[in-house]
Amino acid sequence: MIIRNCIIVLILFFLTISFSEVSEANNGISIILNDQKLIFDQPPVIEDGTVLVPMRALLEKFNMAIEYDSNSETVTAKNKNTTIIVTINSKIALINNNTKKLRVAPRIINSRTMVPIRFISEALGDEVVWHEDIKTVNITNKDYALPIFIYHWVVKEGEGKGGTPLSKFREQLDYLQSSGFETVTPDDVYDWLSGKKILGPRSCMITFDDGNLSVYTLAFQEVKKRKMKMTLYINPSWMDNQMTDVFRQGQEGYHFNWEQAREMVDSGLVNIQNHTYSHQQLDLLSKEEQKIEIVKAQERIKEMLGYTPYHLAYPYGSYNQDTLELCRELGVHTAVTVKNSIAESKQGPWELKRISYIPVDKIFRSTEKKINFQIEEYTCLKENL
Ligand SMILES: [Zn+2]
Repeated sequence: MIIRNCIIVLILFFLTISFSEVSEANNGISIILNDQKLIFDQPPVIEDGTVLVPMRALLEKFNMAIEYDSNSETVTAKNKNTTIIVTINSKIALINNNTKKLRVAPRIINSRTMVPIRFISEALGDEVVWHEDIKTVNITNKDYALPIFIYHWVVKEGEGKGGTPLSKFREQLDYLQSSGFETVTPDDVYDWLSGKKILGPRSCMITFDDGNLSVYTLAFQEVKKRKMKMTLYINPSWMDNQMTDVFRQGQEGYHFNWEQAREMVDSGLVNIQNHTYSHQQLDLLSKEEQKIEIVKAQERIKEMLGYTPYHLAYPYGSYNQDTLELCRELGVHTAVTVKNSIAESKQGPWELKRISYIPVDKIFRSTEKKINFQIEEYTCLKENL
């Protein structure tokens, strides 16, 4: 009999696995995660002044893996930093092995495990505010990580040296696509950092610095085929003068031109942003000189492409306190570095890290967002910076 009950519980539990967003009323209670309204197939309930929501549906929004043990009637939710264990009908919960007393015990309603939303969200370090008058729970979740890949140029096999071989680039795009990655834009990143948007659990950003001609002739063709998005940080002075940079002197037609830039932007897949006017090392310049480098590029891009680029990549990844102050003063939305790691919200908008070596093959072996990047484990394809 006990076994049979366990099986029934288990079946009921697995029925809860498929969470679908149905447009059913949430019992008049709104749950807003950042700016996204969450709809649960089992509506939230209020018990003793506490809002209970379906645990699995909520925690999957936080990319947590969930397990249920029918013997002990415990639900374990895990990600890299946090393990939450609750027991049905018990007010004692565990967060990373520390005991936490709940105001209301989790319970099963319509085969969903319902838990206090405040407890779960706060366990994850999010801010939770309950607005009694409009029956709304606002959760601010900024704990999120995003791989931003940095490329410079692509080469056909046997042609040129350095750069990313075309076959490898194709392989990497295919890998991202077949693994269900969505390519996002710097505006998406800005919205994420501002708490306005939640990015999908498999989001990434593909970036190219310096406006190399091969970005137009090779990379653009590849992303177009796959309808993926990429962001290019460019130096208007280099484009205007078709100048070669210090690394690749002597190569004619090194940069794509404005017409090609426009074609890429018009495709809707390419976002062109600011890599400063003439690619100088910002931390060696005065604040005023840095300002000129940033603003002149903004103005030229606006003139040639019709919009102001509010996103910046520091040349050579170099910046100092003056640069950060300028970002604030000039209203730069995001800025990326070449520090080799995954971007995380705690880095703030102007020191976002990027993956400089392209270890795409090893990405997302696990299902959990933040442990996908064990940089040191990668066999890296080293790119020249
Ligand atoms: Zn550069």
